[in-house]
Amino acid sequence: MSLIVQKFGGTSVADTEKIRAAARKAIRAQKAGHRVVMVVSAMGKNTDTLLDLASQISDEPPAREMDMLLSTGEQVSVALVAMAIHSMGSQAVSLTGGQIGLKTDNSFSKARIQSIDTGRIERLLDAGNIVVAAGFQGIDDDLNITTLGRGGSDTTAVALAAVLGADACEINTDVDGVYTTDPRLLAEARRVDVISYDEMLELASLGAGVMHSRSIEFAKKFEVPIHVRSSFSDQDGTMIVAQPESETAPVSGAALTRDEARVTVLGVPDVPGMSQKIFSAIAAQKVAVDMVVQNVGTSGKADVSFTVAGGELKKTLTALEGILDSLGADGVTHDDQVSKVSVVGLGMAHQKAVAASMFRALAEADVNIHMITTSEIKISCLVPRDQANQALRAVHEAFSLDQRPSDAKTWNEIKASNAKEADVADVVARLQNDALEALTLTDISIVPAQARVTLDGVPDQVGVAADMFEQIGEAGIFVDMIVQGYDGEDGSTSVSFTVEQADLDSAEKVAREICGKHSMRDVRGASGITKLSVSGIGLRSHTQVGTVLFEQLANAGINVEMIATSELQVNVVIQSDQAGDAAARLKQAFSEALN
Ligand code: ADP
Ligand code: ASP
Ligand code: MG
Repeated sequence: MSLIVQKFGGTSVADTEKIRAAARKAIRAQKAGHRVVMVVSAMGKNTDTLLDLASQISDEPPAREMDMLLSTGEQVSVALVAMAIHSMGSQAVSLTGGQIGLKTDNSFSKARIQSIDTGRIERLLDAGNIVVAAGFQGIDDDLNITTLGRGGSDTTAVALAAVLGADACEINTDVDGVYTTDPRLLAEARRVDVISYDEMLELASLGAGVMHSRSIEFAKKFEVPIHVRSSFSDQDGTMIVAQPESETAPVSGAALTRDEARVTVLGVPDVPGMSQKIFSAIAAQKVAVDMVVQNVGTSGKADVSFTVAGGELKKTLTALEGILDSLGADGVTHDDQVSKVSVVGLGMAHQKAVAASMFRALAEADVNIHMITTSEIKISCLVPRDQANQALRAVHEAFSLDQRPSDAKTWNEIKASNAKEADVADVVARLQNDALEALTLTDISIVPAQARVTLDGVPDQVGVAADMFEQIGEAGIFVDMIVQGYDGEDGSTSVSFTVEQADLDSAEKVAREICGKHSMRDVRGASGITKLSVSGIGLRSHTQVGTVLFEQLANAGINVEMIATSELQVNVVIQSDQAGDAAARLKQAFSEALN
């Protein structure tokens, strides 16, 4: 008999009528012959209401009590859902996180799942019940109640689907699937039939709130296909699976993180270990940094820029104040009126000039780009917040995201052509461990024979990035990493990009033309560099990866020249003669997580 996990989000159980509708959906699935496990969120905005209550009592409530409080939201809804099922003549039992044996670590408010005991659920299912499990919550070794972080019910659902070997994991929500961008922001967004784990993972972490990003880490690791669909209809929605919808489209989705802040540490001595000092001070405050850009120093000094969530700016600045003197840096600047617009697509990894198209679209919408970072399947640009929607619309249109790619496939077509089923033995083996959400690294590798070109004094004006990367594209040069950040001297920016060693001469030549045309300060080329990549699942949610990596390189006296991070990879550019040593050290440091 097949087993299906059905998750219902807050809006889908917001009132008693909706609770009845959810109950009916589960009963229909059971009557169709499935064993049914429901995972339910707190009703409507109940979690927000609880947070608000706590804030009226205390500015800094104890984390343990906060989780105790927030977990009540889900306890209310599972009981009501089970009652609704009973009232319709079927059998159901509601269970809290503790009662389903969902063990987590003890990091309150962002606990990670370690193991789930399926015994009780199986017994209840065998007896003909619909099991109604509370999302978002678990229990630690000391039986404290923990929560998984906002939106965490998705992760409960996917984790349960993984350990129960479910045939399907349905995420029932208030949209009828995953869209090319948030349909509330852009009416022309298109619902996709299929999206790959990797794309969804990036989009979720870049602001597409439809799925909790950790749920996608789970799904990818344990090969759980996810079906995102509307709670209010029986229409098919979107399948999140290993394969993309299109093999050729460079971009499959766009996302906006509205509330970002840019921070720049000026005049940091350009010696190994400095980035590590900066980022470990910030990590100690549990603040996640993004869009890290370290400009290649002139006169022995570098500027380090990065973004943090707007709400974490104050904490970040305080952390930096404490270390400025010991760093020997000149100062810190920030901008709290910026947003990040990103595009994501598996297809861009092998296509030229995708970044140039994005920059051109922003230029034509008259949007100035403050910072740029790229990684294998995403490009992010920091833009003024008052132009954020305009920027999102422009890139959505530039990549024709409102139109279905001509080679797009449905899930049924992909399944038919790609008969490979999840390797059950393999999945079960991975489930044997008792750290389901532990960091999983797949590879530490190097790409040698790279070169870097840096342009200094790039005017911070609309259209410059577009012009630069179009010219480079026209010269037939494949650009890998691009970073743009402040160079602090005169409000201008500096742009670095990497190319194959063999392309350095022609890239430098084009760069000189661009430099002349836009009256930039200088062009510098560097050869003999290597890209070192750490690949895995959930590299950004496991924030220690960056800390350990920087620490290892700093201890070995290795200077990090460029950095690019994504959900899938952390990439650093270093001198080639140090690459072997660096890779060996990292393999050693991460040996436990490498599988
Ligand atoms: P639930 O309460 O069911 O968990 P959420 O509010 O967490 O629902 O997620 C659904 C919302 O996610 C949608 O209403 C939509 O506005 C938003 N969203 C953001 N990005 C996307 C996207 N790319 N596709 C679909 N929905 C998105
Ligand atoms: N109720 C929790 C929240 O609002 C968890 C969830 O809904 O996924 O964040
Ligand atoms: Mg949600």
